[in-house]
Amino acid sequence: RPRVLSGIQPTADSFHLGNYLGAVRNWVAMQETHDAYYCVVDLHAITMGHDPIALRNRTRISAAQLLALGLDPERCTLFVQSHVPEHAQLGWVLSCITGFGEAGRMVQFKDKSAKAADTTTVGLFTYPILQAADILLYQADQVPVGEDQRQHLELTRDLAQRFNTRFGPTFTMPAPYILRDTAKITDLQDPTAKMSKSASSPNGIIELLEEPARSAKKIKSAVTDTGREILYDEENKPGVSNLLTIYAALTMRTIDELLEHYDGKGYGDLKKDLAEVVVEFVKPVQERTRAYLEDPGYLDKVLAIGAEKARSVASVTLSTAYQNIGFLSPA
Ligand code: ATP
Ligand code: MG
Repeated sequence: RPRVLSGIQPTADSFHLGNYLGAVRNWVAMQETHDAYYCVVDLHAITMGHDPIALRNRTRISAAQLLALGLDPERCTLFVQSHVPEHAQLGWVLSCITGFGEAGRMVQFKDKSAKAADTTTVGLFTYPILQAADILLYQADQVPVGEDQRQHLELTRDLAQRFNTRFGPTFTMPAPYILRDTAKITDLQDPTAKMSKSASSPNGIIELLEEPARSAKKIKSAVTDTGREILYDEENKPGVSNLLTIYAALTMRTIDELLEHYDGKGYGDLKKDLAEVVVEFVKPVQERTRAYLEDPGYLDKVLAIGAEKARSVASVTLSTAYQNIGFLSPA
């Protein structure tokens, strides 16, 4: 079975629809066909400033949501990044073969640091290098992520290639696995920006764990485009197109079917129906998340087993990397 690795940050009290449709939905599917490793990347979540109590809670909530969305600890390895120290260890090694200018070209760093120039940390700068370590430690063949991570995947591939060339075969070359249709769910209030845990305004984001009535309201007040016709046109009608994308993905219908169904109808009809679809989707997810959170013993056990499995793979890769780079093995 090909190996996959992917991660999600515990940077909010809830995941959003973009996280699910762009990433986690694939994670669930790939547990059936791949040797799958999924992690809650708490090391990444401290790069923008954070509250310790919130981080610990959000790490638990993230794991509970992943189970509620369909990850099955019998079918995949689910763990918390900081439980596997090899991530930070390989991250250091990779940072020493990354060019300063190369890291400086990362668009996510430029975006996130531009919004918080005076609090930007070195950790935010080296974030993509740690992400490369996350992936390469598991010798992942594929990495299911949203479109926003494509550039980081390219860097990961460059670093793998560079390390292998300089120090001998060590890492598998990972390929991005990006679903074309839902790779970028956009902000409901600003349909040219991606929906984001940390950057979207409250009305721009559908949180899986928020009050469903609130989600319905947000959909009904989503920014739509000029004109009245329901068309799929990302360029000229990004708002309506985003709603159609979400609708199609949650109902497994095609955009064409939806267009036919809404022929002659207005934005209001589309929004009203989509609001219902979203509410029906999130309700059972919320119930299951709550149930997992009420059983912290089970959650901790799942994460402990996951960490142990993850470490058994990560430690082998790290020793090979240490060996190849010339570190003296401890006696
Ligand atoms: P943050 O704002 O804290 O960076 P985020 O919303 O970008 O949060 P991440 O934890 O960084 O979420 O990313 C988790 C996964 O979700 C990644 O694979 C990412 O590509 C994917 N993802 C994030 N936002 C979207 C989106 N709007 N559409 C599709 N996929 C997305
Ligand atoms: Mg992100």
